[in-house]
Amino acid sequence: MKKTIYLDNAATTKTRPEVVEAMLPYFTEFYGNPSSIYSFSDEPKKAVANGREIIAKSIGAKTNELYFTGGGSESDNWALKATAEAYKSKGNHIITSKIEHHAILHTCEWLEKNGFEVTYIDVDENGVLKLDELKKAIRPTTILISVMFANNEIGTIQPIKEIGQIAKEHGILFHTDAVQAYGHVPINVDELNIDMMSASGHKINGPKGIGFLYIRTGVKIRSFIHGGAQERKRRAGTENVTGIVGFGKAAEIAAASMEERSKYESELRDYLMDRVMAEIPYARINGSRENRLPNNANFSFQFIEGESMLIMLDDKGICGSSGSACTSGSLDPSHVLLAIGLPHEIAHGSLRLTLSEETTKEDIDYTVDNLKAIVARLRSMSPLYEDFIKHQAK
Ligand SMILES: *Cc1c(COP(=O)(O)O)cnc(C)c1O
Repeated sequence: MKKTIYLDNAATTKTRPEVVEAMLPYFTEFYGNPSSIYSFSDEPKKAVANGREIIAKSIGAKTNELYFTGGGSESDNWALKATAEAYKSKGNHIITSKIEHHAILHTCEWLEKNGFEVTYIDVDENGVLKLDELKKAIRPTTILISVMFANNEIGTIQPIKEIGQIAKEHGILFHTDAVQAYGHVPINVDELNIDMMSASGHKINGPKGIGFLYIRTGVKIRSFIHGGAQERKRRAGTENVTGIVGFGKAAEIAAASMEERSKYESELRDYLMDRVMAEIPYARINGSRENRLPNNANFSFQFIEGESMLIMLDDKGICGSSGSACTSGSLDPSHVLLAIGLPHEIAHGSLRLTLSEETTKEDIDYTVDNLKAIVARLRSMSPLYEDFIKHQAK
């Protein structure tokens, strides 16, 4: 079998064996519907309550402030659309950033087509939100500020507490997409002035298709999925019992291992960055070096086309991700890399590598060795690079 070096943990993670094990009995043994009256449903009911308790505790929330959803995208959609609906008598203005995940950006675009106004705040060259611009953008009609906790491409962590404080001072709700941050960095919703927060199971070694939206008590919230009375009548549909059990288990392990894991990952990440910068010319690191997710590295290589690099890495069994939105069928460079000021041609040659606690130093050495050769090979075929070198020689 071809060897696999999985360095795309920002895209999704491996479900932990302990998580799978915890979930299994709820498929075949305790499969009752938690809403049913008979005692056969006591166990699944208890399991849902237990998952909710673990997760609420992990962010300093109350259990009745937590709503399970079908994942991060649903939580983001819910937070924005329901707030817009519930607060439209107060105003129609929403503020977000230019580097949000598409679950936020595309929802904002939809809201703009439906009578709302959205301001997209700039970030600096490290991907940090410009707080002075945020303050200036606030209007009497602003009802919501939504800024992601940590960026999925470049790993930059935002000054969440300050953003929450600004929102609070103006009586504006603050939502954060914490899908990349939850389980990786400590989060307390009270300390950080967070009113609403999205997270997802599959980004923290839990199952796919389960997430939550935290909604602070007192926030007016509209039902998102209409139907049965689940999730306190706010999100209908039979509970994803196995998903909730798995998410709870993953959250519990993530919280317990966070300190040690982030130390391990950030050291290995720094080793990766240092080797790349020392050994590959005309490279740059994207994102903040200080305020950064422990497992995220993002590079740009001049004179390189990201897609070719990914294909050649794949040939060596290395899974990474590039800076272009190839998933959308276009080769437009990532909106995040453009927002931090990269020119198109440099943004095109970008590579995101995201580690896990299972990544080893050998994996990183193997990756850098291959990356070096691949970059050199691609450059040797690039007329631009040839011109550049000729020019340099003069
Ligand atoms: C992955 C991701 C999402 C989407 O979460 P899903 O559970 O896959 O729907 C949203 N926001 C960010 C920042 C993400 O990284």
